[in-house]
Amino acid sequence: MANGSVRVRFCPSPTGNPHVGLVRTALFNWAFARHTGGTFVFRIEDTDAARDSEESYEQLLDSLRWLGFTWDEGPEVGGPHAPYRQSERMDTYKEIARKLQDAGHAYHCYCTASELEERRDAARAAGRPSGYDGKCREVTSEQKAQYEAEGREPIVRFRMPDETITFTDLVRGDLTFTPENVPDYGIVRANGAPLYTLVNPVDDALMEITHVLRGEDLLSSTPRQIALYKALMELGIAKAVPQFGHLPYVMGEGNKKLSKRDPESSLNLYRERGFLPEGLLNYLSLLGWSLSADKDIFTIEEMVAAFDVADVNPNPARFDLKKAEAINADHIRMLDVKEFTERCAPWLKAPFAPWAPEDFDTAKWEAIAPHAQTRLKVLSEITENVDFLFLPEPAEDEASWTKAMKEGSDALLRTAKEKLESADWTSAESLKEAVLAAGEAHGLKLGKAQAPVRVAVTGRTVGLPLFESLEILGKEKTLARIDAALARLSA
Ligand code: GLU
Ligand code: ZN
Repeated sequence: MANGSVRVRFCPSPTGNPHVGLVRTALFNWAFARHTGGTFVFRIEDTDAARDSEESYEQLLDSLRWLGFTWDEGPEVGGPHAPYRQSERMDTYKEIARKLQDAGHAYHCYCTASELEERRDAARAAGRPSGYDGKCREVTSEQKAQYEAEGREPIVRFRMPDETITFTDLVRGDLTFTPENVPDYGIVRANGAPLYTLVNPVDDALMEITHVLRGEDLLSSTPRQIALYKALMELGIAKAVPQFGHLPYVMGEGNKKLSKRDPESSLNLYRERGFLPEGLLNYLSLLGWSLSADKDIFTIEEMVAAFDVADVNPNPARFDLKKAEAINADHIRMLDVKEFTERCAPWLKAPFAPWAPEDFDTAKWEAIAPHAQTRLKVLSEITENVDFLFLPEPAEDEASWTKAMKEGSDALLRTAKEKLESADWTSAESLKEAVLAAGEAHGLKLGKAQAPVRVAVTGRTVGLPLFESLEILGKEKTLARIDAALARLSA
């Protein structure tokens, strides 16, 4: 599809930390806009003063920037339909609600919550549809006066047409909703506050959105919005009903829907752990879409070039953290080394780095970086992989010590030290020969022989390639650490 007039929107509510479901929605909209040469509109749905926060608004902007989603219209960049924060558009909604009422598309509903509940229960008991029953559709002026005398404050309710609504979902194909399943619904609260049900389609109409791509959880609001759209068209406010595409649910652990309250759904968590935005986006794109059957790893440019919402799979997608990490690891490997060293920078200083800033050594870091780059799943792992280079003594890890320091480790370490003393310290290969020879002297294979050396020098049983690590740390420090381990073993 190549169509310069595509206009999509990403319209979150600022009510908490951004979550991965939201990022997936942003990604598919953004990729669709970029693929078609269309417009990506960013709108803030902050009409719920009780739940929205300025902090969360700032976080949304910051997250979109971190992910690399530039928006063509929206907060800070402006655009022909400004403002893009709904809290600044209240007068527009009030005026449109009034017009809908004047034209008979909406009406005042005076039912109280307890009356609604009573009728809903009765309908359920009788096996009838339990949605709003249309009681206030025709209220006489006497009734109205009576209600008002009772002090009732009406909400505004949209009048659904008594007809079946059919549309072709871009992801799910033809869908049909019968009137008994889509009752009249509230669009303005009794206190005058317009609801999501009104402001979301009104803004989509005013901002001339052509394609609404959003989560499946919003599918039930689509027939209502289509009906509202038609009313807006009649009033000359909307030009055309947009096309809708509902993206599949994302399932978490135990095949339950991933909720924004699940810790693994928090975008900030991925940022803090050192996911690359490109790695995270590559993974999230696979939640409902794929580039091709045999290619899981791709760049955002490749995705944009190939993305079509018609290819989105309607079946629920499973969120798999292990796979997300594996894909991120691939993206870490795809960086050039210089870029890799730069991206690691935050994890090489406070509050993550346990060493004193003056003990950091750029030359050692640059020497070890290529060995680390091929092994990290997330950037935050860099800190404990290189701390042995910058700490005065290796990090103490009791479990590693107990695991590696077996009966006879002291003898092995003494031999290893001897052999290392006469090795060529400009060659990791020579250091390996030394430890290999020490192992042979004690009837140990290389793997077993290197474990105590690794723990003596780095503090841990797992880490970067050992002989390169020793070479970079240097002869003097390596031998001193073996001495310290020997002293501890004999104590
Ligand atoms: N503000 C709504 C939400 O965050 C937008 C839903 C939609 O895309 O229509 O759920
Ligand atoms: Zn009513």
